[in-house]
Amino acid sequence: MIDLTLCSCEKSLLEMVETFAARNKENMIYQTSLMSALLSGVYEGETTMADLLKRGDFGLGTFNELDGEMIAFNSQVYQLRSDGSARAASPQQKTPFAVMTWFKPQYRLRIDSLTSRQELHQIIDQKIPSDNLFCALRIDGHFRHAHTRTVPRQTPPYRAMTDVLDDQPVFRFNSRAGVLVGFRTPQHMQGINVAGYHEHFITDDRQGGGHLLDYQLEQGVLTFGEIHKLMIDLPADSAFLNADLHPDNLDAAIRAVEN
Ligand SMILES: [Zn+2]
Repeated sequence: MIDLTLCSCEKSLLEMVETFAARNKENMIYQTSLMSALLSGVYEGETTMADLLKRGDFGLGTFNELDGEMIAFNSQVYQLRSDGSARAASPQQKTPFAVMTWFKPQYRLRIDSLTSRQELHQIIDQKIPSDNLFCALRIDGHFRHAHTRTVPRQTPPYRAMTDVLDDQPVFRFNSRAGVLVGFRTPQHMQGINVAGYHEHFITDDRQGGGHLLDYQLEQGVLTFGEIHKLMIDLPADSAFLNADLHPDNLDAAIRAVEN
């Protein structure tokens, strides 16, 4: 066993590095674990919400035991649970998979007429036409409808996510204001992350939300920007080390789970 106890000077050096990273708030995606690991049933991680907030003020993911969807913006983190409800996440809660960034949008667009999810994605795709880059997007607005799902909490031995989602609870929020947090991930990142658009939603009263399946925006503000950097924290626990992260059906399984 290797005992790595940091001396106080090393600790302060580590703190300096972390403070430097936070102060510079690099335009980068920080990610814990891999989508392929989540898919194969690695539902417990060591990263806390407090850890995530050192890596960004904006993001999405899930919670240990797959206990609902996570959405973060303005450095606030919420847990969207399988009964459709939402609550503020505690700093100690842990995640097996999350994606964070310091949200620094380059584009801002006011939307004043009914706009579909596809149309909003087209607007972003026109501004940032290369699929080889990441985008982060946020919508603050009034939605005609937001159709969401959440994941139900699991107990070990864990089933693969494709099996879990056979009984995923779905919800429809009609005529509600809320916040959408999303990422567009390149196709070349399928498995590492979710290729294409991945979006979570929470209502303005912060009482409900989930992983978005579809929506229509009545009016609101779309902000988005491109991101060129990715940092991945790979877990060291046995579940991750023994997981099959390149199954033959990876692409189809992610599409089944996330769309
Ligand atoms: Zn999701």
